Amino acid sequence: MHPSDMSVEMILSHLGEEEHLKGAVVPPIFQTSLFVRESCRSVGPLTCDDPDITGYGYSRVANPTLRLAEKKLAALEHCDECKLFGSGMGAISAGILSAVESGSHVVCVDTVYGPTKRFVIEYLARFGVTHTIVDSSCTDSILDACKPETTLIVVESPSSIVFQFHDLRRIGAFCRERGITTLIDNTYAAGLLQQPADYGIDLIAHSGSKYFGGHSDIIAGVLCGSRDRIKKLERQEYELVGGAMAPFPAWLLLRGLRTLKVRMRAHEETANAVAPWLAAQPWVDQVLHISLPDFPQRDLFKAQMSGSGGLFSFIPKTQDPDVICRFVDALNVFQRGVSWGGFESLAVTLPMEVMAWGGSKWVVRLFCGLESAGDLIADLNQASSAF
Ligand SMILES: *Cc1c(COP(=O)(O)O)cnc(C)c1O
Repeated sequence: MHPSDMSVEMILSHLGEEEHLKGAVVPPIFQTSLFVRESCRSVGPLTCDDPDITGYGYSRVANPTLRLAEKKLAALEHCDECKLFGSGMGAISAGILSAVESGSHVVCVDTVYGPTKRFVIEYLARFGVTHTIVDSSCTDSILDACKPETTLIVVESPSSIVFQFHDLRRIGAFCRERGITTLIDNTYAAGLLQQPADYGIDLIAHSGSKYFGGHSDIIAGVLCGSRDRIKKLERQEYELVGGAMAPFPAWLLLRGLRTLKVRMRAHEETANAVAPWLAAQPWVDQVLHISLPDFPQRDLFKAQMSGSGGLFSFIPKTQDPDVICRFVDALNVFQRGVSWGGFESLAVTLPMEVMAWGGSKWVVRLFCGLESAGDLIADLNQASSAF
């Protein structure tokens, strides 16, 4: 069956797993650096155009354990191809590098993941690549920043602290017309809540360390796109910069993917119970949760996404960072940490530099893990005595 005809559940659990090696229901790990051949004539190039047909050569370029996860992730993202990297930043930086050369100009939204912004501002500058950082709340400002030498637009919708959206269909159509590559960090959506390729976005990047891994035990990166783009990138950034994922984390990633849909449903249901409770508390100024009725960009949420997951923020009434810190430190079930997408609930307080509708404020970002909403609400309630 073609992946586009398969349900998400079938993709996650069964795509590519038709052949059971010695009856093993879980495919074994190909924990090997090298693949040898019968004849020197069949060794061929180490890079595989299609390893399923030509055979594998060397695991820095392709490995069957990674290949299985890549097929599932490409299908989830409605893309032809996918490559797995050792980290989300490995995938994002390779995607960016594949679309620039000396003299190029990059447009990047201001609410993108911090290290991504630093890569554009600090790192690319060393190679004569210029940039414009734009107000992400306004799609016009993103498109207006494009110059004749612009080769790449980097977006993240929704972003992961203030959940800023941009109009992906408009950006996709604008860039396709002008031959500008578009790259989205789609980590928030976990391949389930939106498929940016359907809106004309070219490169879809993820930190697989979050929902895909799902158990806070791997660092992983995912990059999806058309066959042409990914094959070209495989010969250049993938093979030459050498950021491939190792087989063991890829095997854990496959295990995470089998439960992705049910985990996401649980995260989302819990966050959808905790967020309205928070919005009703006297110590909360505003809850930034993308599916709440008063979310400022509700129109784009409804136009582009089919759900919301477990991550959201709130702005406490007090803006005294010491008091906010006391609240976060008083939490017992929520642990203090910056990541998200695992089994465990997390809280972190961050200054938001940029928020079109509110200026610079302190937010508390919450990730609802797999604990019950009741336990999480009770925890927030007991810690609120700090306010
Ligand atoms: C974690 C994260 C990244 C970076 O991924 P790593 O796997 O840590 O390299 C990129 N973007 C977003 C939105 C993230 O949350």
